[in-house]
Amino acid sequence: MGNHNDIIRNYVCAVCWGSLHTIRGEIVCRVYGKEHAGFVTRKYAEKRRAESYAERANAMWNIGKYFFESRTEEELIRMITGGEDDQGTN
Ligand SMILES: [Zn+2]
Repeated sequence: MGNHNDIIRNYVCAVCWGSLHTIRGEIVCRVYGKEHAGFVTRKYAEKRRAESYAERANAMWNIGKYFFESRTEEELIRMITGGEDDQGTN
C-alpha cells in the first residue's frame, strides 16, 4: 500500500463515494468511518457517477419521447401555443 495521502487523494469511499481520511493509521470514510468498508479509485467513482447521469438522461429522453408520442398533433400544437384555442376567428 502506498502513501496514505496518495490514497486519500486518489480514492473515495466504496459505499458513499465520499472523501476518506485517516484515523490512527487506518483509512476510513470521512463521514461514516468504519461503517463504510472499502474504497474505490476516484476515477472509478467519477466514471460510475457519469454513467448514472447518462442513464438518467436516457430515461428522461425515453419519458419525453413517450410524452410526445402519446399525444395527438392537435394536443401538441395546443401545448406549444400555450393552450390558446384560436381557431382562426381573427
Ligand atoms: Zn462512506
